[in-house]
Amino acid sequence: MGGARTALFNWLFARRTGATFVLRIEDTDAARSSAEMVEGILASMRWLGLEWDEGPFYQSQRLDLYRAIVQKLMEADHAYRCYCTPEDLIKRRAAAAPQEWKYDGRCRLLSPDQNQRMQAEERPFAVRFRVPNVSQRARHAASQRRGPSRAERAHRSWLRRRTTTRHPTPRATADGWARARAVSSLASTARADDTSREETSRLDRRSP
Ligand SMILES: [Zn+2]
Repeated sequence: MGGARTALFNWLFARRTGATFVLRIEDTDAARSSAEMVEGILASMRWLGLEWDEGPFYQSQRLDLYRAIVQKLMEADHAYRCYCTPEDLIKRRAAAAPQEWKYDGRCRLLSPDQNQRMQAEERPFAVRFRVPNVSQRARHAASQRRGPSRAERAHRSWLRRRTTTRHPTPRATADGWARARAVSSLASTARADDTSREETSRLDRRSP
């Protein structure tokens, strides 16, 4: 159903803009794909009147291309082999419940030796992207929660001081002076209390 809706929107877009509507069949998941499934998709597309300009292209016929790219990613260390079996993953997910479980990245830590041994044993593997690791992300998240660093706070306070000591130009109106005084009192409120970060941001939001 989702596929049909996406196809419809793409078809409408192509017909509206004069673009080419290309049909590509995602059939790389061998367990879920079959000739009947593909035939079903093509029949549904024809039945809906979504005639395509090019294709169908089969992802499965492009596997060599994908393998070459995966190889490149692994050589550049942007991807790694994961030897965890689907059963392992199911067990670990169940053990973590009711907490949501994400892959713990244990295979990214395998040494070249361990990797070679796994390959020698011809263990099946999946390829995972080497995204920044969990502790890096956790540290980043913690620093976000902690708020600005000492250096950032010093810089902000310097900016605030600059704001407070900047005087309106001689041509400034009374209104301008009032605004300048308001800014300066806001700035000193914010500076008076080191924990007033929330307050500062609230004030920021209120100002136009
Ligand atoms: Zn793994």
